[in-house]
Amino acid sequence: TLILGLETSCDETAAAVVRDGREVLSNVVATQHDLHVRYAGVVPEIASRAHLERLMPVVQQAIDDAGITLADLDAIAVGNRPGLVGSLIVGVAAAKALAWSLDKPLIGIDHVRAHLHAATLTPTKPRAAEQSDKAPDPSTSEIRNPKSEIVFPALGLVVSGGHTSLYRMDSAADITVLGRTIDDAIGEAYDKAGVILNAGYPGGPAMDKLSQQGDRNAEDVPELPISMLKPGSLDFSFSGLKTALLYAVRGLPVGRGKDATFERDASDLSPQRKADLAAAFQHAAVTAVERKIKRAIKQLAAEGVRPQSLVLGGGVSANSALRERVQTMAKNHGLSIHLPELGYCVDNAAMIAGYAHELLERGETSPLDLPVVATSRV
Ligand code: ATP
Ligand code: MG
Ligand code: FE
Repeated sequence: TLILGLETSCDETAAAVVRDGREVLSNVVATQHDLHVRYAGVVPEIASRAHLERLMPVVQQAIDDAGITLADLDAIAVGNRPGLVGSLIVGVAAAKALAWSLDKPLIGIDHVRAHLHAATLTPTKPRAAEQSDKAPDPSTSEIRNPKSEIVFPALGLVVSGGHTSLYRMDSAADITVLGRTIDDAIGEAYDKAGVILNAGYPGGPAMDKLSQQGDRNAEDVPELPISMLKPGSLDFSFSGLKTALLYAVRGLPVGRGKDATFERDASDLSPQRKADLAAAFQHAAVTAVERKIKRAIKQLAAEGVRPQSLVLGGGVSANSALRERVQTMAKNHGLSIHLPELGYCVDNAAMIAGYAHELLERGETSPLDLPVVATSRV
């Protein structure tokens, strides 16, 4: 099956064509980072207007890159939850119009579940890629890096800008939540840390890079808190870590609330000191995730459940330290590890089209009055 996926939940306008749930024939992402950088965050009104301007050219390019025509499609998939309602509605309206006019099934997709599908995706390249710059022919393209199969039951982890959740996966589509963040998502904490350290926008990739030049064991670098919450909890908390970093950078506040002033800010720190603090932050954030995964494995074992695979998704699964740590941990626990290719970690439409294949196979298509919803089902 060939499925076109659309994704407009936040600040990337994306479209992709995926064959049989995993072979990515095209993956077009138009990011809006340039529009939001001066606000250090996504402005919903600007985002939805930009989606409106960009979506149809992005869809056209996804179709062209895949070397197909609209008539070749078997279904139209769209992320309809969770996200900014004004942004979601642009993608959903376009998907409905395409599905209706082409008389193909519409499939509404939960964006968070789709992040868990990203590790299954493989890019394709045309057989004659070296000789020609033509779009891949879907009938002759081959999978570049065949992926090992996820073995169920599996542990799933979504680490993104809005979510930090651990899941038990009994199949690609049977997903139950084991724990989630009680305050900031890990990506949100990274983005705020990026602001505190003046590291660049978006903060996640900038902090990752900065921390690689730093040493958390350097002199006077404080140990930042690794929140485990109460014994047995599989929930996460990152707001304490963020506040600890704020105080480490600025010193203690004088006065309260809005009127508080600080001893200094990031511009008073040497580049090396900033990198060292970023390294301390990265260590605490990644260790918190690692410990929760270990705790989940232990708890499931107590119930007689032995996960066979560890599946990651979401923007923060691109993080260099996290990728390294979970690979080692999976090896030590005898789990197969499934990390998305770097291009499929942050928001994209290939994961939407890929996950839709699972639902199409189950006959789970959506009506043309599919709503948009701000919150996830998982
Ligand atoms: P959600 O999927 O929960 O609705 P989202 O779609 O905004 O949220 P994603 O696009 O999956 O989130 O991920 C974006 C987040 O990933 C941002 O917070 C970004 O800073 C973070 N991120 C991206 N790359 C890295 C990295 N290398 N290290 C840490 N964080 C990263
Ligand atoms: Mg984004
Ligand atoms: Fe996302």
